[in-house]
Amino acid sequence: MDLDQIVAETAADIEPHRGKGKVADYIPALAKVDPKKFGIAIATPDGACPKAGDADESFSIQSISKVFTFSLALQKAGDDLWKRVWREPSGTPFNSIVQLEREKGIPRNPLVNPGAIVVTDHLIDNGDADAAIDNLLRVLRDHAEDDSIDIDYEVAMSESETGARNRSLAHFMASFGNLENEVEVVLSAYFRQCALALSCAQLARAGLFLAFDGKDPVTGERIVSAQRCRRILAVMMTCGHYDNSGDFAYRIGLPGKSGVGGGVLTIAPNEGAIAVWSPGLNDAGTSTVGALALEELVERTGWSIFG
Ligand code: GLN
Repeated sequence: MDLDQIVAETAADIEPHRGKGKVADYIPALAKVDPKKFGIAIATPDGACPKAGDADESFSIQSISKVFTFSLALQKAGDDLWKRVWREPSGTPFNSIVQLEREKGIPRNPLVNPGAIVVTDHLIDNGDADAAIDNLLRVLRDHAEDDSIDIDYEVAMSESETGARNRSLAHFMASFGNLENEVEVVLSAYFRQCALALSCAQLARAGLFLAFDGKDPVTGERIVSAQRCRRILAVMMTCGHYDNSGDFAYRIGLPGKSGVGGGVLTIAPNEGAIAVWSPGLNDAGTSTVGALALEELVERTGWSIFG
C-alpha cells in the first residue's frame, strides 16, 4: 500500500471542504486560527511519516492531551483509577455537569472534562502541579522524539481566564471528595495540558505506541502493557468524541480522540497512528473536515477495525 499516495489523495479529496465547521471561539488564540488550515500525518512502524497540507504546523491539541494523561494515570494507579472515574460513554457534551450530581461526583470516563480533571489530579504528587506538567511534557517529547514540543502559554492563560465551567466541575467533584489536590492546583495543570501545542506529525508520532500494543515500534520501548493499551483504545473508541462517539465509530471505525483545537488523533491497530487537523468543528467539538479526511483515508486503506 502506497501511504504517501493515499495521504496525497485524501488531502486532495477534502480540498473543496476546507474551512467547513465552526472554529472554537471561547478564547482568542483559537478564534484567530485560519479555518482553512488542514493537515494530515500518519506515523508508521518503520519510522516514516507520510503527510500532507499543514502537517508540520503546531496547533492546540486541547482534549487530545486527555489520552496521554489517561495512559500515565493508568500506569500510576492501575485499576484503582476506576474507583474515581468510570469507563462508560457519557452521551453528553465534554463539559456537561448534569450527570455528576446524579452519579455522586464520579465522572463517566477519563476523556470528558470532569474525568480528565480527576485523572490530572491523580498525576499530581504533593500538590506540585508544575512537576506533573514537566513530566507530561517530558513523556510527550520522548514519545515523539522531539524536544521542541511545548505548551502555548497564551492559550493556557486564556483557558484559565475563561475556565468558569471547568472550575465548577472541579469544585463539584471536590464536594463529593473526588479531588485530592486543591481545585486551583489541579486546574493549573489541566489548563496547561489543554494548551500543549503539537503538529500532526508530532502528534501521530507521540501516539504511535498505541497502535502497537503499547510498545513503540521504532525505538522498541514498552510504554504501557498490551492489556492497558487495549483498554485505552476501548475507551477512545467508545468515549473519544463525547456525544459524537457513536457517529465517529460508525463512519471511521477506529479509536480516536478529538480536541476543540480541531485536531483528531486516531489509532489504526498494527498499522499506524493518524493525526489530522482542521479547526472547524461540528456541534460536538470534533473537526468536521478532519473527520471527513479520516473517513476517506479508512475507505482507501481498509483500516476500520470492523473490516
Ligand atoms: N480546553 C477545553 C476545555 O477544557 C478542552 C475541551 C475539548 O477539547 N473538547 O473545555
